[in-house]
Amino acid sequence: MKFCSACGHSVEFRIPPGDQLPRHVCDHCGTIHYHNPRIIAGCVPEAADGRVLMCRRAIEPRLGFWTFPAGFLELGETSAQGAARETLEESQALVEIDDLFAVITVPYVSQVYMLHRGRMLNDHHGVTHESSETRLMREDEIPWGEIAFPTVYHGLKFFFEDRARGARDFHELHLTVRLPVKEHVKLGGD
Ligand SMILES: [Zn+2]
Repeated sequence: MKFCSACGHSVEFRIPPGDQLPRHVCDHCGTIHYHNPRIIAGCVPEAADGRVLMCRRAIEPRLGFWTFPAGFLELGETSAQGAARETLEESQALVEIDDLFAVITVPYVSQVYMLHRGRMLNDHHGVTHESSETRLMREDEIPWGEIAFPTVYHGLKFFFEDRARGARDFHELHLTVRLPVKEHVKLGGD
């Protein structure tokens, strides 16, 4: 940032007293602007027949690639509320949000993914401003080579591996190296 969002004066990038990291500091009004990672809430929506709802992205980044519903958490929301809202916004689907099954940190883009299991309340889903196509898929129909992000790839793997074992586990994953999705696919998941 160049200008203080509180008073409009120029900011300096330096380490404030008592801190360890450089921050955007406004000497006019004294505000220190902290920039922290962003949280993304997501949901793997499961239909009554066990298929999961996938969305083809209609927007950049990764236009045309597939994801489950996920997006930036809004102020004042729980991760479950955010996941339900994103599911409705991206796929028109109404879901009941179940447990959190994965937290994936992605330090190279300063993002934290909180992924929930979800149950579709009915069979309705459809295209939206954010999704050019929505489709219920069995595990063997998932286009693993056309997944939008590594976090989505690993989230789906966790989801299906747990379900195959009849488990509802919790997973933590830290993606510290930036690799394209196809490299994760080649590595076989981990
Ligand atoms: Zn200021």
